[in-house]
Parts: sequence; C-alpha cells; structure tokens
Amino acid sequence: MYDVAIIGGGPGGYAAALYAHNFGLSVALVEKDSVGGTCLLRGCIPAKTWLQTAEVFSTVARAAEFGVEASSPSLNWAAALARKQKVVDGLVRGLSGLLKARKVDVIDGYGRLVDGGVEVTDGEGGTQRIEARNVIVATGSVPSSIPGYAIDGERIVTSDEALDWERQPNRVAIIGGGVIGCEFASLLSDVGSEVYLFEALEQLLPGTDPDAVKVLERTFKKKGVKIHTGTFVGPAEITSDGVKVPFGDEAVTVDVVLVAVGRAPVTQDIGLEEAGITTDRGFIVVDLETMMTSKPGVYAVGDVVAGTPQLAHAGFAEGISAITHIATGVAAPVDFKSIPLVVYTHPEIATVGISEAQAREEGRDIVVTSHGMRGVGRSIIKGEVGGTVKVIAEKDGPIIGAAVADPGAGDMIHELMYAVGWEALPEEAAAFIHAHPTVSEAIGETLLSAAGTSLH
Ligand code: NAD
Repeated sequence: MYDVAIIGGGPGGYAAALYAHNFGLSVALVEKDSVGGTCLLRGCIPAKTWLQTAEVFSTVARAAEFGVEASSPSLNWAAALARKQKVVDGLVRGLSGLLKARKVDVIDGYGRLVDGGVEVTDGEGGTQRIEARNVIVATGSVPSSIPGYAIDGERIVTSDEALDWERQPNRVAIIGGGVIGCEFASLLSDVGSEVYLFEALEQLLPGTDPDAVKVLERTFKKKGVKIHTGTFVGPAEITSDGVKVPFGDEAVTVDVVLVAVGRAPVTQDIGLEEAGITTDRGFIVVDLETMMTSKPGVYAVGDVVAGTPQLAHAGFAEGISAITHIATGVAAPVDFKSIPLVVYTHPEIATVGISEAQAREEGRDIVVTSHGMRGVGRSIIKGEVGGTVKVIAEKDGPIIGAAVADPGAGDMIHELMYAVGWEALPEEAAAFIHAHPTVSEAIGETLLSAAGTSLH
C-alpha cells in the first residue's frame, strides 16, 4: 500500500513525486510514456531549445552591427534537431535518476483511477492494481484543433509534430496567435521561413498587456511575419502545391499549417466518471486550497485542472500543494496571483499579477507607470531598445501587476513577482538599488516613477 499513487509523470505529477520525500511518503508514479510529460518531451524544453537556435542564428545574422565579421548564417536543421533531442534526452535521464534517488516507484503503463488506488494496463494488455491511500491525477493535456483542420501530422500539424520537423518548412500558416503560435512565429521567422499568423481575436496573445504585445508585433512585422488578427480561417484544402488556407476573400498557400488553438485536458477513460469526480468541460474541478477533487483522497494537478493556468510551473506548485495536504492535512494553497507567465518569443513578453485592463474592469483605482528601454544604457549596448516595463499599483496601495517586453523579460519579471506576491508598495520596492548597467534598471526607474520620485 503506497501513501500516494500518481497518474501521469509530467511537471505536476513528477513534482508531487519528488516533493513527497520531504514527508517520507511512499510513492508510485504511473506513466505510459517516458517521464517528463508535455513540458519536457513536447513542450517547454524542446520549444525553448529551438528558440535558442533561432536566437544564435539571428545574433550571427546581425554580427556586423557589433563590429564582428562573420559570413551570413545558414541553418543545419538536422544538427539543430539533434541538439534539441540531446537536451530533452539529457533532462529525461536526469529526472529518471532523481526519481530513483528519491525512491519513487515508476510504473510503466496506462493508469486508471479505481477504488483504493490505480489500475495499470501495460503494453501487452496485462493489468495490475496499485493500492494507495491517496491518488493524484496529473494526466495533462493534448493539443486541440478546429473544424476543417484534421491533424494529419504532415501537412496539418500541432506543436507535437512541429518540434520534430525533419526539415525547415519554407511557408507556414499558424492558426492561433496565443503563446504557442507566437513562439513558433518567432523562431520560424528568425530562421527565414515565411510565416502567416492567424488569430481570431483582435490582438496577438489575447488578454496580455497590449503595450507589451505591441513591442512583439513590431518585431514580427520587421521580420516579415504576416499577422492577421480578428481573422477566422476557412477549412484547409490540400493541393498539389501544399495547403490552401482561405480567410475572408483571400487565401494563402503554404507547405504546412501549424494549429495552435489551445490544449484540451486528458480526462477520458481514466476512471473519473466511475469515481464520481466532478468535471467542468472536461477539466477536473478541485478545491484550490488543497487541490483535492470532489472525492476525498483524490487530487488533481497540472493541465487537467479547471481554472488554473496551463503552465509547467503552475503544475509544479499544484503538485507541492497536493502533497503537503496529503502529508499534513493542512491546506497550503498555491499563490496563483503571483505566478509569472513568460512568452519566450524574441523579444520575450512576461507578465505577473493582474493586467491594467483587468484592474480597470474590476473598477480598481490604479496608477500605471511605464518605462521604455530606449534610454537604458545596457539595452543600447545590446542593440535591443524596443522593450517596455509597466507596473500597475493601487492608488496609495501595493503593486498588483506588471508586464515586461524585452529579450530578457522572462528573467526580469521575477523581481516584480516578489513585489506582487509580497504586496509591496512602490516606494518599498523602489528603495532597492539596481546594478548599473543592467536592463533591469528599467524596472528600477519604473518603480521610482510609481513611487512619485523619478530619476532619469
Ligand atoms: P492559447 O490559449 O495560448 O492560444 C490559442 C489562441 O488561438 C488564442 O489566442 C485563440 O484566440 C486562438 N484561436 C482559437 N480558435 C481560433 C481559430 N479558429 N482561428 C484563429 N485563432 C483561434 O493556446 P496555445 O498557444 O495553443 O497554448 C496552449 C496552452 O499551453 C496555453 O495555456 C499556454 O499558456 C500553454 N503554453 C505556455 C507556454 C509558455 O508559458 N511559454 C508555451 C506554450 C504553451
């Protein structure tokens, strides 16, 4: 009898499995693939590895600007693909080793929730029953599609296949201008593919600070990305020359269509109905204080959970929260309000807390302060002056949100994460001195302005 059986070895599941050692809990982790989940195998890690290749490529392409003579770069796609796989395989090996060191029993097979634990079916159809006092469902999500875009893995693909493309596509239509759509548009346009980006809503990265998104849109336009916001595409048509994507009165023919319209939870055929667990449009409903489902002793974490962000680091935090409740009986809720979101495009867009628009919708009395990178020494040195910082504070109150657009935004956002998480007043956060010359000085300047005492 295990203390915990976990179905799914992605970030939510493996974080729960790893964290359990802090309380001496015995853990079985059931996984049908290799451990790592979407993030490690077909998400964050491979995508960011490709984005790194794109960054090196574009840095070399503009080397002359910095007085460095280099021939114009060309991409050895196969070598980049091999590097991507090497990074993924190395991290999977590391994770497997860590799980072993923590004495987690990794059980190969397909897990289904049953009374008193999990039933595991292996590749040959054999079943075994894992008895456990608690179960955590961490089965993740899969890419969705839209009518007229049946995924064939060749001409019409999702990010799952795109991360393993064997050669560079010349012309790509991306349906969906959310996080995945924008990250692929960024990397493909950096390495010279022709990119058409279709987004149904009026802005790329809907819901994200529009001023930060404008910085990205400007870069996309410079790189020749054809952006079509407020646009619905008609059904795709496979032709001798590729795939025809109709929109309005027009159409574009491309080599491949990448569908990036969101991800659906994996909650079919895992025993939820039989266990009487409440779901909402396929997502598992949990008590956000403890991550427990409607059935005592059964928890859910990660992308399957209703109403929490589909982010690996949210999954980690939810896994930790569930394990803490299992071990101690005390609720240790995730502080969702201060979880940063990073879009790893070039430039990156990073946000934390609530947006300016959301604060206004809620009728809050707010003070919004912004600062561009144009006068920031380090940004000028780097030749990257297009960025912005925005800080949202309640009038005479704490910092409640922030947005940064800059190539380094994903790392820079974390000081604002603390400000939002600790509900710092602008003058409290502004009291600390940023190192000079750094890009983060732009945050320091914004905080000074927010405190009513600007410097430059
Ligand atoms: P998303 O929800 O971020 O974006 C999907 C986009 O597709 C939306 O903007 C939506 O308006 C648009 N859309 C939907 N139907 C459409 C249609 N018919 N035509 C045109 N546009 C349409 O989803 P995603 O980009 O697929 O990513 C899935 C999840 O994975 C998200 O929750 C995302 O946060 C997460 N993810 C995060 C990261 C990161 O944090 N860097 C990276 C990749 C994925």
